[in-house]
Amino acid sequence: MTGSVEQLARKNVRELTPYQSARRLGGKGDVWLNANEYPLAVPFELTQQTLNRYPECQPVQVIERYAGYCGLESNQVLVSRGADEGIELLMRAFCEPGQDKIMFCPPTYGMYSVSAETFGIEAITVPAREDWQLDLPAILSQLDGVKLLYLCSPNNPTGNLLNSEDIRKLLEATAGKALVIADEAYIDFCPEASLTGWISDYPHLVVLRTLSKAFALAGLRCGFTLGSPEVISLLLKVIAPYPLSTPVADIAAQALSREGLAAMRKRVAELNDTRQWLLEQLQACPLVTAAYNSSTNYLLAKFDDSPQVFRSLWDQGIILRDQNKNPGLAGCLRISIGTRQECEILMTALNNMTSAENA
Ligand SMILES: *Cc1c(COP(=O)(O)O)cnc(C)c1O
Repeated sequence: MTGSVEQLARKNVRELTPYQSARRLGGKGDVWLNANEYPLAVPFELTQQTLNRYPECQPVQVIERYAGYCGLESNQVLVSRGADEGIELLMRAFCEPGQDKIMFCPPTYGMYSVSAETFGIEAITVPAREDWQLDLPAILSQLDGVKLLYLCSPNNPTGNLLNSEDIRKLLEATAGKALVIADEAYIDFCPEASLTGWISDYPHLVVLRTLSKAFALAGLRCGFTLGSPEVISLLLKVIAPYPLSTPVADIAAQALSREGLAAMRKRVAELNDTRQWLLEQLQACPLVTAAYNSSTNYLLAKFDDSPQVFRSLWDQGIILRDQNKNPGLAGCLRISIGTRQECEILMTALNNMTSAENA
């Protein structure tokens, strides 16, 4: 009777390839530059000793502080178990499986497709143009039946911002038909580019945020969905009754305090400097055929022989993220910005490979 339980599972779940997270891919090393994490841990202490009680569904202090941080009202903010849960809640609330569709534009973040497959929701993919901007005519011609259009800006893994006038055109074209979701997981590295100011004009615009990147709290699992009060009320219908544990809410509130925000902005300034340094180093490295500008905490670089470079660095305990199989990204590796020292270790390893090749 082997495989009998397997056969009980939904067809789309049997066929599902789970998200290949950096943690699942493994590796052994000292220099972890593969998951867009902040390289150093920020210490916190728990202040709430009420674990006998259930937590608030939407902890008021966390909601109020995040609303203050992004200039919105509390009823325009939902907090959840990471931005990944926000991606999923939108599908649960807005997409009828087997009927409604989602759309996204590869190369981009992998969870849009994984969540859609899990729910049995068809995904339309419209590849980005060669410059990684949106292919507006192709998007507009395929919107039939699409309820959710996921855009990622700055985009993971390419690092570029999407042209905001393109997004405005899509918002005009989708009013009353579909939601446009701007995934701003990395926006804290370029806050001037945020679209949150547009939510009052476009009730079908939704913005996703997270504490996992600039706030250095990937292990906390805390993210935000920003949108019109109607959107937030619908999501509150489908969210779990206790999505955040009490310790998570406790630490999130501290991270969003005045001091927490100041510390985050200081980290961002340092990291952006390190990114600029690494970009110049990569552009000067003979192994690198292109290193692309980025508005995030990672860089994409192209190599003649990226599998060899990836493997050689891996063997030296320097773990990057291979993008070879991502559409349009042949030869590309994604490099998270670590500490300045980690970036120096990476460059030393790359430059040593260069001299070995020339020897
Ligand atoms: C990291 C990331 C997320 C997920 O954030 P979590 O809050 O850790 O779930 C969402 N979108 C993009 C583009 C990301 O890179």
